[in-house]
Amino acid sequence: MPINQHQPITTDIFQQDWVLASNNKGKLSEFKRLFAEANLNVTIIPQGELNIEDAIEDGLSFIENAIIKARHASRISGLPAIADDSGLCVPVLGNAPGIYSARYAGEHGDDAKNNAKLIADLQSVRAQSPTTAIKGLFVCVLAMVRHADDPLPIIAQGLWQGEILDKAHGDGGFGYDPLFWLPDMQATAASLSASDKNKVSHRGQAIRQLLQQL
Ligand code: IMP
Repeated sequence: MPINQHQPITTDIFQQDWVLASNNKGKLSEFKRLFAEANLNVTIIPQGELNIEDAIEDGLSFIENAIIKARHASRISGLPAIADDSGLCVPVLGNAPGIYSARYAGEHGDDAKNNAKLIADLQSVRAQSPTTAIKGLFVCVLAMVRHADDPLPIIAQGLWQGEILDKAHGDGGFGYDPLFWLPDMQATAASLSASDKNKVSHRGQAIRQLLQQL
């Protein structure tokens, strides 16, 4: 249902439902929990419930892709939309997988293959320096648009530093969580409870920052 470009835009975003521009189950469950904790007086509808397909993510950065996804969901639904573009950056790999984290091994959202490729790609680095920890950075950029052509999207970003293991540990979370080691917590992101992950994660930080701006 494309919106009429000339229809008046409702400026009070709290009078409307918001679309969440993601079909990733792991992200959706973290979002639901974080928004429930924030007690916002809005209903967040995952785009899948409105039969909105994923946008074509052809930006070169997290921020570009977050804005593309938010505008796409807002244009189709006619509602305010919020998008999360996130991923894992590994500096020794030139910040790969980066914006291609979901499709690093080729197929979109195949966590097991993505993790296996990451382990394989880091093998030669580990062989050269077996006792040096390999740093990783989870990045989450959120973009919220009040309408599809909003010239002033609300942007928030969260960063979470850790180390990349060569074996998976833990069975919670999603994506690269089982390889993401947190030395301070002596745990991987996949071994944390959902609420503990949200307290410290890139997504938790970004959502809290976004909520402060609203
Ligand atoms: P996007 O849906 O294009 O933003 O891609 C997100 C991808 O980044 C996911 O499919 C995961 O591979 C990875 N990712 C993002 N956030 C997390 C997280 O919290 N834990 C583990 N992997 C994540």
